Amino acid sequence: MKVRLFRPLIGDDEITAIKETFEASWVGLGNKVSEFEGAWCSITGAENALAVNSGTAALHLAVKAFSFTPGSEILVPSLTFSSTAFAAVYEGLKPVFVDIDNDTLCMDLDDLSSKITPKTAAVIIVHFGGNHTDINRLKDLCDQHKIKLIEDCAHSQYGRTKEGDTLGLIGDVGCYSFEEKKGITTGDGGMIVSADAELINKLKPARWVGIDKDTWVREQEQRISKHWYYEINDIGYKYNMNNLSAAIGLAQLKKLDQFNKRKRDIIARYQSQLTRNSFFFDYDTKGNLAYWLFGIRSARRDELIIHCQNKGIATGVHYTPLNQHNAFKNFRGKTPVANKFYDQAVTLPLHPALNDGEIDYVCETVNNFEQTL
Ligand SMILES: *Cc1c(COP(=O)(O)O)cnc(C)c1O
Repeated sequence: MKVRLFRPLIGDDEITAIKETFEASWVGLGNKVSEFEGAWCSITGAENALAVNSGTAALHLAVKAFSFTPGSEILVPSLTFSSTAFAAVYEGLKPVFVDIDNDTLCMDLDDLSSKITPKTAAVIIVHFGGNHTDINRLKDLCDQHKIKLIEDCAHSQYGRTKEGDTLGLIGDVGCYSFEEKKGITTGDGGMIVSADAELINKLKPARWVGIDKDTWVREQEQRISKHWYYEINDIGYKYNMNNLSAAIGLAQLKKLDQFNKRKRDIIARYQSQLTRNSFFFDYDTKGNLAYWLFGIRSARRDELIIHCQNKGIATGVHYTPLNQHNAFKNFRGKTPVANKFYDQAVTLPLHPALNDGEIDYVCETVNNFEQTL
């Protein structure tokens, strides 16, 4: 038996969608991208959306949108993927690492609060594994200190809290990733959402090498003279999503709720069978959160990983705290709780294609290991 850690669930619907795009022979930035942005808004309740070619690009543009004073500090968790902190570094800003709360694995709001200085410009929150922190307290802290709230929603696609908040729509801007392992995929891709239409409009040229009118718009204006005319007023990047990715995204988006539900059911099955319940955090499998990671904490982390590997089960570790990496050694912020979590964390397989037989096999394998204590 081989059990994968992540696996995109893609098939005939996605092939049909790509085929249509091939037949139209417009595979770059175009109508499918706008369609995907519209569909994302109507399903998740976002007011404005801009599709890009990665979650990393989404985070970079989201930070860029605010034109923070160079040298400003951006609070980020240490327990996250590199892109969360690089988004600040790309813009000449300083990431400051905030510790996690041991119960939620999201930013510890006391530590966050203590690390706010007059130079703090924003906080990039990560809804770790699909979980969330105390949203009201977080928003109050940001309001009180007049700092921007950027949500890295790479782990939470359309997760909704018990209190009725939609993750991604609580801050000034929300960023998603459609990388192959994430909730739904477009191969690679990302999305920026905001209630601020002006902010999203400002980022449109920034995702398309600075050009104020994309080629699709110009194509539609063929009859107007000087349809070829465009302006470049600010620095831009090649960050656009293309029609092929958007077509896959449109097919995937129809299944987002179903995928999220299946993953909650998988977690419930794991929880009912794993005998030692030191799970990452308290999973609410009856609600509407979109979980991306399920795992356990084990004092014998490395042995457990090898044991699973020998039984054909892929596991992972999310993540080595960023402040332990050389690239971030010049940035400050002590994070003892994240470091301790890292030493014990084992991520187990979680993806909508996982079947009950595989879940039971993983549970049996992990339980057998625990009994050897
Ligand atoms: C995956 C991920 C990203 C980056 O997304 P890409 O689409 O791979 O660029 C950013 N932040 C977090 C927390 C992620 O897990």
